[in-house]
Amino acid sequence: MPVYAEGEIIVVGGGPAGVAAAVMAARQKKRVILLEQSGALGGSSALCMVAELMNFDDGEHFVSRGFGQEVFDRLGLRITEKRAWFNVRYEALKRVYDDMVTEAGVDVLFYTRLSDVLKENGRISHAILSGPSGPCAIRGDFFIDATGTGLLSSLAGAAYAYGDEEGRTMSATICSLWGGVDFSRKPIDWLHYDQAYADGIFSQYDKVLPGIKRNYREVGVGGGNVGHCFGVDDRDIRSLSRAMLEGRRILSEYESYYKGYVPGCENAVLIKSADFIGIRESRRIVCEYTLTMDSFFAKEPFADEIGRYSYPVDIHPMTPDKAGVVGFSKAISLRHEDGETYSIPYRCLVPKGVDNLLVAGRCIGTDRAMQASTRVIPCCYITGQAAGIAAAVCVENNTPAREADVATIQARLPS
Ligand SMILES: Cc1cc2nc3c(=O)[nH]c(=O)nc-3n(C[C@H](O)[C@H](O)[C@H](O)COP(=O)(O)OP(=O)(O)OC[C@H]3O[C@@H](n4cnc5c(N)ncnc54)[C@H](O)[C@@H]3O)c2cc1C
Repeated sequence: MPVYAEGEIIVVGGGPAGVAAAVMAARQKKRVILLEQSGALGGSSALCMVAELMNFDDGEHFVSRGFGQEVFDRLGLRITEKRAWFNVRYEALKRVYDDMVTEAGVDVLFYTRLSDVLKENGRISHAILSGPSGPCAIRGDFFIDATGTGLLSSLAGAAYAYGDEEGRTMSATICSLWGGVDFSRKPIDWLHYDQAYADGIFSQYDKVLPGIKRNYREVGVGGGNVGHCFGVDDRDIRSLSRAMLEGRRILSEYESYYKGYVPGCENAVLIKSADFIGIRESRRIVCEYTLTMDSFFAKEPFADEIGRYSYPVDIHPMTPDKAGVVGFSKAISLRHEDGETYSIPYRCLVPKGVDNLLVAGRCIGTDRAMQASTRVIPCCYITGQAAGIAAAVCVENNTPAREADVATIQARLPS
């Protein structure tokens, strides 16, 4: 098999965590290759059309510091209310990431899909890819798993947890883009949902987030994070395929709902459904430390803290019924007061059993409820940037991830 490229640090996955990791590692003067299966950076927000960036602040302080702050500034965002969420302008966000990787000198390889790894003496030596010209290998000294799914770690032999006690995960969503919306008439979340359900518009009861966001308010276009696909196992091709068919069918129900029941949406049209289904929960890699809800409540700093964040426990329903909606509301009520945050330790980025691997973003070592908070984009910037800096320090010192010089990593993290 041909070795297509070699780098010191190989980052797999070009979502928020992967871009943060690659940029921060390259700024440490390392040769960084970023592998991304699609043709754009941004992960869920680029491919799955996730419509918002969650809060960058804790109500009192800006907490997604460093890389997150740079993205925030480059997008021209401003905090006008505590814990504000921000509508994604998709092309602007993609271009910000493009500029940041280019300026940092990251070697970005699009259309490269990780399919396996080669290992020698407990270390990953090569990522095996299916690329446009067939299989090829990328050799690296150190690897970062930013796939969101934990695929790299699991291929490298790391153990993982999946879903609840019965293996059930949060519902998934095919996000969407809608036009023809008259935002001046304030189309409101939940409006007449129960009536529409009673009238048979919806084939399942799923009264969670049915509204259209205001991404391009000036031209009547907004994103939809609406409609859940239940029982999806993102490790299984058939399950994913069924969900794509089901998710698109559900969106046609929403089109009828908007047109018939929501003032301001009489002329709403579904412009596009995302080509990739949005998966909220996948593998949680077993790491040197598992961040749990105890830390969410305790808020005590870890000695190896790499960042702090605050966002509620956002577990989407697992069943299409009122019980699912109640469970969602209960979980999301777990939140902090203004100025409170939880601590994220370096060890929850260090998969057990693989020497030269770190994990960042949605699939870090947490329990299930904690993952429902750490998974959002501004927190993925935090874990991504820490993984990038930590990988660079490990390469310099030629140490395994679990023996990293944490003090040096902390000193290099943007304050
Ligand atoms: C429907 C939905 C709505 C959400 N809403 C919000 C929201 O409003 N605000 C918010 O902040 N967060 C939201 N989130 C959460 C957030 O979008 C994700 O958790 C976050 O994007 C995870 O970032 P990541 O970098 O870990 O992974 P991802 O964003 O999933 O990026 C992973 C990247 O890795 C690539 N990849 C995967 N496998 C391979 C492979 N084998 N080879 C090569 N490349 C690969 C993918 O193509 C992708 O680009 C939502 C998530 C979903 C699914």
